[in-house]
Amino acid sequence: VSKSNSASSKHLFLGLAVLSLLSLVTLTYLFWLFISPRVNEISHALAFICYQSLRVFYLLIGFGILMILATSYLEKNFLILGQVIRLTIQFLFPVTVWLGRLFGITKERVRESYVHVNNIFVKTRSKRYKAKDILILLPHCLQRTDCTIRITNDINHCAQCGRCDIAALLDLSRKYGVGMVIATGGTLARKLIVERRPKFILAVACQRDLVSGIQDAFPIPSYGVLNLRPEGPCQNTRVVVEQIEEALLAVLDRDVHTIS
Ligand code: SF4
Repeated sequence: VSKSNSASSKHLFLGLAVLSLLSLVTLTYLFWLFISPRVNEISHALAFICYQSLRVFYLLIGFGILMILATSYLEKNFLILGQVIRLTIQFLFPVTVWLGRLFGITKERVRESYVHVNNIFVKTRSKRYKAKDILILLPHCLQRTDCTIRITNDINHCAQCGRCDIAALLDLSRKYGVGMVIATGGTLARKLIVERRPKFILAVACQRDLVSGIQDAFPIPSYGVLNLRPEGPCQNTRVVVEQIEEALLAVLDRDVHTIS
């Protein structure tokens, strides 16, 4: 299993995000030039409110982008307004995907780059969590399709035969005393997060599920690790277990003793 996702780059998402903002500002400005005479005819006050609202909105997004760029490139935490960062990403993300497609860049690559940027955000927080506050969230497709053991309710039912990565991941969760669950979809993942109330999530999934999962879990910080799909999507996927351990050790409060 190769570490293919470690090569993912932050530059793609960041470059597309800046380009998206510039394109949107230009388009909005041109649109405003076109419709403002009509809006002014209706009411000067309405025109003033619309114009100022657009200005404030784009100033916020611009500020959000600046915080994202500073955090990503200086690798220091400048994410002072979490909601503005969230608004910026939610607003610009679909445009980055669309622009990427115009340049022949797949949705998967843009999503992967975004996950990479998100992981930088998590790292720059330099915050440590107790084992009980961390939750490892795994996709069901990691389990061998021909394995008859039901592990979705309780991953501890796995017999650890070693035919899939669940066995090694289970060892890892026991070693560090960190909770680990399998989610068969976004709805169940959200339910598990509500039930377990983690303060930090380490999620394994494909690009699409990681992007939606990271956004759904907000404001809980989530670190994303991409699964590998040697047999195609959604079946017998793999993960680099060392990558999970590395991510875990970066956030685990090691003053609290782990189970060896
Ligand atoms: S390690 Fe073996 S028993 Fe456990 S889920 Fe994978 S195939 Fe099933």
